Amino acid sequence: MNLHKLTIQQARAGLEQRDFSSVELVNSLLERIEKLDGEIGAYITVDSEGARRAAAEADDLLAKGKRAPLLGIPIALKDLLCTKGVKTTCASRILEDFVPEYDATVVSMLKKAGAVIIGKTNLDEFAMGSSTENSGFHITRNPWNRDHVPGGSSGGSAAAVSARMCTAALGTDTGGSIRQPASHCGVVGIKPTYGRVSRYGLVSYASSLDQIGPITRDVMDSALLLNVICGHDSFDSTSANVAVPDFTSALTRFDTDGLKGMKAGIPKEFLSVKGLDPDVEKFFNNARNTLEGLGVEMVEVSLPQTDYAVAAYYVIAPSEASSNLARFDGVRYGLRDTSAQDLIDMYKKTKSRGFGAEVQRRIITGTYALSAGYYDAYYGRATRIRAMIRDDFNRAFENCDIIISPVAPTPAFKIGENVDDPLTMYLTDIFTLSTNMAGLPGISVPCGFSATGLPIGLQIMATHFDEMALLKTGYGLEKTLGLQNKFPDI
Ligand code: GLN
Repeated sequence: MNLHKLTIQQARAGLEQRDFSSVELVNSLLERIEKLDGEIGAYITVDSEGARRAAAEADDLLAKGKRAPLLGIPIALKDLLCTKGVKTTCASRILEDFVPEYDATVVSMLKKAGAVIIGKTNLDEFAMGSSTENSGFHITRNPWNRDHVPGGSSGGSAAAVSARMCTAALGTDTGGSIRQPASHCGVVGIKPTYGRVSRYGLVSYASSLDQIGPITRDVMDSALLLNVICGHDSFDSTSANVAVPDFTSALTRFDTDGLKGMKAGIPKEFLSVKGLDPDVEKFFNNARNTLEGLGVEMVEVSLPQTDYAVAAYYVIAPSEASSNLARFDGVRYGLRDTSAQDLIDMYKKTKSRGFGAEVQRRIITGTYALSAGYYDAYYGRATRIRAMIRDDFNRAFENCDIIISPVAPTPAFKIGENVDDPLTMYLTDIFTLSTNMAGLPGISVPCGFSATGLPIGLQIMATHFDEMALLKTGYGLEKTLGLQNKFPDI
């Protein structure tokens, strides 16, 4: 049996019926990693020993009749999530040997639900990027075409799910880093509402924008993982104390008739964005027609700040990053350059050696934007635009239940194509980062393939805490298009 091909749901059924063991499931994924990851580069750390041990424990519990949502299921984690006793590098040389003393809340929740942690996946250093080319260690390749990027910054997680080197994964999304790699790798990814999932133990990039979410083979698996990781956590002061609906059982009962009468907004500013690829437009239109066929009514909405969103985000995110990354100073964590003559020299040498070019660029931009003389001109203005973006969405949602759009202007670009052009790279986030600025949830669901065989996703956004609308619409689309659990033949 090809155990590596199973969704969480399928694997869970097989494990509970004792058709195979968790150790066998883990071994089949480890074999895939052995065979493919030398070239794909999805992982930074593969914890074979820990995974086999946890799988054997899960098998004992399964044999005793114990049941839990993820009992014996192998999950990969973006290497920005703290794991007790397992290296957490953030894909940065500065944390190359950092081993946390504790698990992030989401990691504890996964373990409590019985999950087996198989390894830590590659990312753009500290999640800064859109292609996973900014990792301090190695790039990750797109499993559909190895000359292309997997997207980023959660590119390792998306590539691992897509190449069937884990059953599901967690990523993080500050401006699109779950949805965009999910779209480029042909898998499902959800960025939950800000506050829905605890950020405790997630190494901060831009704290007011970061959220953790699932990357999976189909929508049902995302619902299942969301149910495990959502919920209030007193360790995170921004964690929301709101009830978490049972997404999984709602989808189990769901029938596409349930979409009838729903209203989907299409932001008119999005479709006139410069550089929108014809295949992306074609499959966006196709997905829109499919949803219309299911009874969803389309309405035009306006998000007037679209033109300013990228600029405002690229002031706010680096500003927060410059403050968050100040802790990596060679004294408290990780790398320290010992050749330095004095303290200032030690800071300089440690940070120059430890941080890559993109991280240094963001720290410099952020520090400048927050400096006394320029604070109001840059950071102040960017926060005012952020408030206007939130108002735009509130107004748009007066006329619709969800908003749909492409995830990225193009399918996965070629490795190296944008590395020397940060501004072009930043512009690829135009459709995703506004939801982070407004704290809203968004999903990417596969909706087609480009003429060159690269996956394309549809983005669905909803109001705060309405992940259910994303899951139901995504599920309806997936059932109709039949693009779930589709993977490259490797
Ligand atoms: N590409 C965006 C950035 O570089 C978003 C990254 C993310 O969501 N972590 O900031």
